Amino acid sequence: DIERILQSMEVSIDKHHLKVEKSFFGNKEVTINRAKVNLILNNLIKNAISYNKENGTIKIAVHHDEIENRLRVIIEDSGIGISQDDQNRVFERFYRVDRSRSLETGGTGLGLAIVKETVDNLDGNLTIDSDLGLGTTFTFEIPL
Ligand code: ATP
Ligand code: MG
Repeated sequence: DIERILQSMEVSIDKHHLKVEKSFFGNKEVTINRAKVNLILNNLIKNAISYNKENGTIKIAVHHDEIENRLRVIIEDSGIGISQDDQNRVFERFYRVDRSRSLETGGTGLGLAIVKETVDNLDGNLTIDSDLGLGTTFTFEIPL
């Protein structure tokens, strides 16, 4: 349902002239807990928009690993990035980094806490890789 999520965020994507690139690998017909996966995607994509820069890019890659039977989703943005110290804290409830640099403000700081909890709940794992000023990549992987 990535298309539908992107559609719902089209206004912000257009407003900030963001470019979205999508790629899919492997069998597209997978059985997943759709509500939970959508909740994860929704929060990560929303962040990739909010904490991006004008004319930035968002890359979304979905891999279905048919050998391991796992789904891996990588969401990469060219945004403001998160410092090493903050990377250790962003999954805490209500934790927010300096909001003045965001394209869209007004979050609650709960998004990533919910993402982490939901990924854990699906027996998956979630990783963050970020360079301050350059961008952030979130990767989550769940067994199918
Ligand atoms: P919401 O509850 O609406 O999601 P939020 O976006 O502030 O509010 P989180 O999604 O939990 O809360 O993110 C926590 C903080 O981590 C954000 O306030 C932001 O500072 C930082 N952050 C999250 N995603 C990114 C990203 N892709 N790039 C840079 N900073 C990010
Ligand atoms: Mg958020």
